[in-house]
Amino acid sequence: MQTKLLINGQLIDGEGERLAVLNPSLGAPLVQIAEASEAQVDAAVRAADAAFDGWSQTAPKDRAMLLLRLADRIEAHAEELAKLESDNCGKPFGAALNDEIPAIADVFRYFAGASRCLSGSAAGEYLPGHTSMIRRDPLGVVASIAPWNYPLMMAAWKLAPALAAGNTVVLKPSEQTPLTALKLAEFLAEIFPAGVVNIVFGRGASVGTPLVTHARVRMVSLTGSIATGANIISSTAASVKRMHMELGGKAPVLIFDDADIEAAVEGIRTFGFYNAGQDCTAACRIYAQKGIYEKFVAALGDAVGNLKTGLQNDAATELGPLITAQHRDRVSGFVERASGQSHIEVVTGGKAVAGDGFFFQPTVLAGAQQDDEIVRNEVFGPVVSVTPFDDELQALSWANDSDYGLASSIWTRDVGRAHRLSARLQYGCTWVNTHFMLVSEMPHGGVKRSGYGKDMSMYGLEDYTAVRHVMFKH
Ligand code: NAD
Repeated sequence: MQTKLLINGQLIDGEGERLAVLNPSLGAPLVQIAEASEAQVDAAVRAADAAFDGWSQTAPKDRAMLLLRLADRIEAHAEELAKLESDNCGKPFGAALNDEIPAIADVFRYFAGASRCLSGSAAGEYLPGHTSMIRRDPLGVVASIAPWNYPLMMAAWKLAPALAAGNTVVLKPSEQTPLTALKLAEFLAEIFPAGVVNIVFGRGASVGTPLVTHARVRMVSLTGSIATGANIISSTAASVKRMHMELGGKAPVLIFDDADIEAAVEGIRTFGFYNAGQDCTAACRIYAQKGIYEKFVAALGDAVGNLKTGLQNDAATELGPLITAQHRDRVSGFVERASGQSHIEVVTGGKAVAGDGFFFQPTVLAGAQQDDEIVRNEVFGPVVSVTPFDDELQALSWANDSDYGLASSIWTRDVGRAHRLSARLQYGCTWVNTHFMLVSEMPHGGVKRSGYGKDMSMYGLEDYTAVRHVMFKH
């Protein structure tokens, strides 16, 4: 197993504390890996800084070629990467192999093409006797910090646009799930010039903080919790770095009386519980109109109750474990507090599964009210709440009454209503009659406390550049 860090083109062992990396399906260690020391974090940033001048001046087509080679390597090692991801996250192997790896390769291919299409928006004579042009240029060293829920996918979302735009990167995967990023380091070392991409392993406090606060880091890109985002913003405020923040979510799902209820139930069974609900866009905060509420809750309970929980390498498994025992206890706490309220009914699930793995039953809680903790806070587990509503305006106001603003969906056969509501939902994304679907060409990112900055799409690429004005006197 590849456990070395990538610093200045060299794969080297960490010199910091050794940490156990677990298989959450078994609750057992897979391997021990040494964190980067502070000196190694400094060396990684300095290597990226030294590589910036050369890399930023390579022609886009040459950067694109390397990104395409990386995509090919990822596909060629699909099974190995999917196994590492599935063992380290507990997610079903088939989902890692068939859903994630192709999407990851596609992100690198998309940004390979996009790097050749990046352009400024103007060239003209806005002052007589002068020509102005707008350039989009790279920023310098980007510190990229990834979460544990989709480790390689998040690494791809961060590395691809940053590199395509001509920046150099130091990536820190989550200390809980570093294995695929460290495997990727092997390919990166072969494909990219030394220093262009560096990968350091370790925890937020010991490795993340020295990385994001480093004076030579010009931009920090985080996918993580709101608390971590706020912490990074405040700890780097004095150095005024560019920030790109993809934080939590609590997606509202509005299901109207005229919706295709079977499709909505199937959609929530899939998109509320994919990756054991450890997904910032998970379809978890359901509002169902009163005309279909009872029927919908019963059908959802049946559908969710037959989700198959199991080991990551069992082909029948639909739902894996939570990432750690601590996170499972956190999810249990939410469900216990919710089910202790007399107006909430546990339709299915509700309990942790006994055993060494960190499993939690897929859970539907009905009768939840707008001010309940379970409706307001991100659980990040296989738990959905259902709240009945009267009419469109009530559903809209409850959906928008949230600190989060990442993703939302509307389920209705009324096209006018779908347009009306999607115009007014305060979320980075609104799906109509589906949920969760992402494509490399479309932006992903939030509003409100879900953060700012976009992943994927041309907007994602532009986020990793500075807009510059160059003026010529004739
Ligand atoms: P987390 O915030 O605990 O950790 C995220 C990363 O930040 C990890 O690599 C961690 O080591 C690092 N980190 C922690 N403290 C740091 C510090 N002070 N300085 C630098 N780095 C630090 O989040 P998590 O538990 O790994 O992931 C779950 C969270 O991520 C959820 O809130 C989820 O909604 C969010 N998420 C958001 C998106 C999105 O696209 N918006 C996608 C996936 C996950």
